Amino acid sequence: MPHSNISIFIPHVGCPHMCAFCNQRTISGEQDIPRAEDVIRICSQALNEVSDLNNSEIAFFGGSFTAIEREYMLELLEAAHEFVGAGKFKGIRISTRPDYIDGEILDILRHYGVTAIELGAQSMRNHVLKANERGHTAEDVYRASELIKKRGFELGLQIMTGLYRSKYADDLKTMYRVIKIAPSTVRIYPTVILKGTKLAELYDEGLYKPISFERMIELCARMLEEFDANNIRVIRCGLHSSDNIKGSKVGGFYHPAFKELCESEIFRRKIETEILKSNLNKTVWECVKSRFKPYVIAVNPLSISKAVGHKKCNSEYFGNSVRFVADEKLSKYECELRG
Ligand code: SF4
Repeated sequence: MPHSNISIFIPHVGCPHMCAFCNQRTISGEQDIPRAEDVIRICSQALNEVSDLNNSEIAFFGGSFTAIEREYMLELLEAAHEFVGAGKFKGIRISTRPDYIDGEILDILRHYGVTAIELGAQSMRNHVLKANERGHTAEDVYRASELIKKRGFELGLQIMTGLYRSKYADDLKTMYRVIKIAPSTVRIYPTVILKGTKLAELYDEGLYKPISFERMIELCARMLEEFDANNIRVIRCGLHSSDNIKGSKVGGFYHPAFKELCESEIFRRKIETEILKSNLNKTVWECVKSRFKPYVIAVNPLSISKAVGHKKCNSEYFGNSVRFVADEKLSKYECELRG
């Protein structure tokens, strides 16, 4: 069931780590640090604005929630718990690092009504985690994930693609390992190179050479399909647009409609396959050119705009020789040639 989160951004105050891609150090001091009264104000405001509160969560995002100073973490949890305890929200969602999860912290989170925990795994390849100075290993992700699931929390994993020293095959390996862990949700963040980070230095020195944007779309499209096929909900693909990115991006993979581009790619490939299936020994172009009426492609009704493509890119790609019809029996990324 669709739901909306009441998001509260927590900058990672005094984070002792130095991840190669993170600019928290350079922007700390520019960010507002929410206190209990801010949590109360934001939640009270949401009570008036959001219609389906019983299906909404209070989400503490932006940093490593369980790694912030304990007293401050409890202050925020207590404020949020007032609302969850009174049955006004479904629960609390937090994101954190895998090496800041243990039995004690999970007991605290449970006590305050936390229901979902997202871990910043970033990669499941130790050489990549090391090169990007994450300060934890893939084993930490396995251990924390198991503990979270065992205690009955909803598990989410966040991964980054195209990190320094992560080849296409490393990102795929990360995907397969994440599928094996079987979280409920995944967020895919293609790496964006931000000013003031170690990645930016490596990029300037020519030591970090990201793959092409097209190849990244192809990789993330494949991930969307694989996660979907394994019943893992992808709740984000591509970084959110924010002033922080606009002012400090020096390279990498940012596009405001990144997920739409990936979904367009999924359907473009599938439509090509469908067209070629019925025209052996021809190229797609020969098929499209020699056709007097449009190909009829059936997709799930909710996927028609994805099949048409971002800014109609697929319709244009096929020279407007494809017409889409809805068939609710088809799954999210399925398509079939119907004539
Ligand atoms: S990404 Fe790394 S450096 Fe940045 S806040 Fe999180 S743990 Fe700290």
